[in-house]
Amino acid sequence: MTDGLRVTIWNEGRHEQIHEAVQKVYPDGMGNTIAKGLQTYGYKTQVFTFDDPEHGLTDEVLSQTDVLTWWGHMLHNDVQDAVVDRVQKYVLNGMGLLVLHSGHESKIFKRLMGTTCDLKWREATDTERIWVSDPGHPIADGIGDFIELPQEEMYGEPFYIPTPDHQIFISWFEGGEVFRSGATWTRGRGKIFYFRPGHETYPTYHNPQVIKVIANGIKWAAPNPGASISVERHRKVPIETLKAK
Ligand code: ZN
Repeated sequence: MTDGLRVTIWNEGRHEQIHEAVQKVYPDGMGNTIAKGLQTYGYKTQVFTFDDPEHGLTDEVLSQTDVLTWWGHMLHNDVQDAVVDRVQKYVLNGMGLLVLHSGHESKIFKRLMGTTCDLKWREATDTERIWVSDPGHPIADGIGDFIELPQEEMYGEPFYIPTPDHQIFISWFEGGEVFRSGATWTRGRGKIFYFRPGHETYPTYHNPQVIKVIANGIKWAAPNPGASISVERHRKVPIETLKAK
């Protein structure tokens, strides 16, 4: 249990409306499936999609969010810039952010990383083995040597991200590629965790190990109280008395 952290799950929600294969795997939508999986962890979850006014990410919602998770794909470029600006502001002020799967190409992730976040990909029949590369990291709590997903979309290196603060998972794919599939950064007061698996046509978010990593990531990314820094930037009056010169 993790004492009621407030988690906002953002799921683009368009594939579920128009692709039968996705409806079959996620009849309740990917966001609601993630929320359901997180139930046993004691978080307070709410789910929003692209179609909600302001994509659901209003000041009212974000000001009451400890950690935001982001899954997007088809509509990255249609996400309103004002909303991206707002999410960035909240992350810099301490809100945690989990970026899932194709969220690597979202405006918010590219903004926060400052790189293209581009990668290689293939949608085929690859098995994915997500190896733990940093077993002492709290995001790996309770995971074994690896998580094996019988079928997933392949993401391969190079992944054009800034060097992560921590590299927690590395994926191997049946076709021979590897990928830095779990990594963290900090931006301002905010903690960011990218976690790779989650292609919409595979039942990845029904996998309890995948949900466990997301739950661990939420706990890790939750804001700290931090220092109370005065908002005034102009330090006109020095702390010590300056000598006359
Ligand atoms: Zn995908």
